[in-house]
Amino acid sequence: MAAPEFDIVVIGGGSGGLVVAAGGSTLGAKVALVERHKLGGDCLWYGCVPSKSLIKSARIAHQMRHADRWALPPAEPRVDLARVMERVRGVIAEIEPFDSPERFRGLGVDVIFGEGRFVAPDAFAVGGRTLTARSFVIATGSRPAVPPIPGLADVPYLTNETVFDLREPVPSLIVVGGGPIGCELAQAFRRLGSEVALVDMAPGILPREDADLAAVVREAMVADGVRFHFDAAIARVAGAAGALALTLRASDGAERTLAGSHLLLAAGRRINTEGLGLNAAGVAIDQGRIVVDDRLRTTNPRIYVVGDVAGGAQFTHLAEHHAGIVLRHAIFKLWWAKPSSILPWCTYTDPELARVGLSEADAKARGIDHRVYRFPFKEIDRAQAESETAGFAKILTDPKGRLLGAAIVGPHAGELIAEYGLALAKGMAAKDISGVIHTYPTLASISRRVADQRMKEGLTPTAKAWIRRIFRLRGS
Ligand SMILES: Cc1cc2nc3c(=O)[nH]c(=O)nc-3n(C[C@H](O)[C@H](O)[C@H](O)COP(=O)(O)OP(=O)(O)OC[C@H]3O[C@@H](n4cnc5c(N)ncnc54)[C@H](O)[C@@H]3O)c2cc1C
Repeated sequence: MAAPEFDIVVIGGGSGGLVVAAGGSTLGAKVALVERHKLGGDCLWYGCVPSKSLIKSARIAHQMRHADRWALPPAEPRVDLARVMERVRGVIAEIEPFDSPERFRGLGVDVIFGEGRFVAPDAFAVGGRTLTARSFVIATGSRPAVPPIPGLADVPYLTNETVFDLREPVPSLIVVGGGPIGCELAQAFRRLGSEVALVDMAPGILPREDADLAAVVREAMVADGVRFHFDAAIARVAGAAGALALTLRASDGAERTLAGSHLLLAAGRRINTEGLGLNAAGVAIDQGRIVVDDRLRTTNPRIYVVGDVAGGAQFTHLAEHHAGIVLRHAIFKLWWAKPSSILPWCTYTDPELARVGLSEADAKARGIDHRVYRFPFKEIDRAQAESETAGFAKILTDPKGRLLGAAIVGPHAGELIAEYGLALAKGMAAKDISGVIHTYPTLASISRRVADQRMKEGLTPTAKAWIRRIFRLRGS
């Protein structure tokens, strides 16, 4: 039998696929990368990069409005959304060369544009070629889910794939979905001057997070002027561009209608598996998900999945981590390598909400014996100096003090959570963080201060009495 043409064929050139392709090629593998649209994926074009760029402009607008917090004259920004979106496009353009076909071809990757399909368990056909490989990696990502709302087919709506193309003003935006994407964009548009209503069938935002943490974000969004409509079933949508009407139906059947110039759907994601010929490849699908083991292997041992299409959490850093695991398998034959269970993430609202490890709700639901410690930003000197005191840090430990999880809601939470990511990955206890010198005055000192709460808990009146007696102290 002829030897396969490639060591690795990657299908999908986004966050996960690009890392497999670049890493594989750098390590000496012969790699082909198949992409149906443009390299960079959701993260670069429709996700992390544009959303965080938009959020930055929105935050500056907010700070201008509230400049009196820093003893400066407040100013109402005259927002030109087209200019803001051009800046977003400019940021993408700065990053795009790192994900360009030229760069990957320069690394020795055979970059093929087109939409192909598996024609056999070891062959993928695209653009008149049939690619054979020792390993294949499906990295086709996900797309916005479109909920079955009556009337939706007849009205214009936005998703994350189109919202950053907007150049016209957005007087009033209805956002469907109170997850991270919906909250980030709702707050950003509100701060950029739109009236914003956020609708969700759940009773609150960010359902994966503990209620006490999510409440801090919700309060900030309410203060910004975002109007929430929870427990809301959407009965129908009607209207035309610039004049949309979304009708909500309460559990008692009562209806009310929200008016908006624009409608943004952020109500979940669907993985991209259609048309890949997974049947021919012997890759099983169950209830719309590719069947994957804990090492990212499909039911065809030579085909792996990475990133969103793997069916778990959907983050760029997870897609990149998956890519590293698959390279260990495909190149070094480290068949036992599997993804880390320690996954940090962050919702980039203001304040940010970041978490790693177990939440309090998870711990309760799973009956895990745990302790909870909190520390507020308002007792952190740097937060006071910056007038950014909303939020708190929270850790969960087991009864002996070993860390089970950490969450931070507050300024720069996404940066601050990294320390707890490391601590959890290394199986550390609260005392390990307590014993580390943290630079003063930094927001990061909240990580130590919250860990100190665990130490202080041990100082019961009896323990203090013993310390006094043993060390002959004179205090009361
Ligand atoms: C608005 C928004 C904000 C986000 N913000 C963050 C954030 O702040 N931090 C974070 O970590 N994550 C964020 N994410 C999630 C992040 O973008 C994704 O988790 C990440 O892009 C997934 O990488 P991937 O490689 O799985 O897929 P992608 O990066 O989407 O790449 C998939 C690629 O496959 C291609 N493709 C699809 N089907 C085929 C096919 N049949 N043949 C060939 N090519 C195909 C696509 O064109 C695409 O290029 C955000 C997502 C959204 C929507």
